[in-house]
Amino acid sequence: MYNWKSATADNTPFMYNWKSATADNTPFMYNWKSATADYNINTKNHYKKRNRMKYQLETIPIWDTYEKETECPLCFLQQKLEKQNISFFLGSSVMEPDIRKKVNESGFCQTHFTMLYDEGNRLSLSLMIHSHLLLLLKGLGKFKKNLGHKSYTEYILSLKNKKYECVLCRRLEKALKRYTFTIVYLWKKEEEFRDTFQKSRGFCFSHFSDCISMADEVLSSKKKDQFLQEIYTLQMKNLVRIEEDIHWFIQKHDYKNSDKSWKNSKDAPKRTIQKLIGKIPR
Ligand SMILES: [Zn+2]
Ligand SMILES: [Zn+2]
Repeated sequence: MYNWKSATADNTPFMYNWKSATADNTPFMYNWKSATADYNINTKNHYKKRNRMKYQLETIPIWDTYEKETECPLCFLQQKLEKQNISFFLGSSVMEPDIRKKVNESGFCQTHFTMLYDEGNRLSLSLMIHSHLLLLLKGLGKFKKNLGHKSYTEYILSLKNKKYECVLCRRLEKALKRYTFTIVYLWKKEEEFRDTFQKSRGFCFSHFSDCISMADEVLSSKKKDQFLQEIYTLQMKNLVRIEEDIHWFIQKHDYKNSDKSWKNSKDAPKRTIQKLIGKIPR
């Protein structure tokens, strides 16, 4: 069995170039359900022919995050990716035609526009919002022409749906899927990871459900039942811990407990909110 953890000396995630791996240039998808032998780097060509991998494996960031013992590994990675993407969009990417085109068309959601603004690089941001505004102005012009026609409601609907089109949200979603896939993959393939997984602090509710959906998508029904049992035990144990922490935080505000220790409850509100909403509060 291949050891994913020590796979790369330069600490970069092990990745195939799935795009170039297939002649027809479609993403290469791996189907665990039809795989009959353990995945091994030495047999990757064999697998390339037989299976199609939908998600890239990114084992190093997963192992690194699990070593940090966070309340939710996927929240931690999401926050890290969010910061990287904010720098990306305010950096030279703004000049790349395909990125520029996507930003012009979709823009960002409230959260990410606020984060981009707070970063302080107003020139890069202004270039993006100017082009985006020009495109929206063009749309508004068409709306005027079509008043009274069917496309009037389509236009309103497109404005209402804008918040779901954020370029940065879409990039995060894609990356998070790869990470979720890798967690489920490692759980299935690596005993050492499975042990780490069971001893971890579980997930927030949002990423807990993402893991279950991923297991549903990629595991056989027998493995999925096993995964569900383990993730349920993990989640219950850690939510009980969080409940005790937040409960003690409240009790500590009673003068009768003022001399007692805070135990692990000092940052309990922050960790509880993270478990509830799937985002680490700032
Ligand atoms: Zn989370
Ligand atoms: Zn967004």
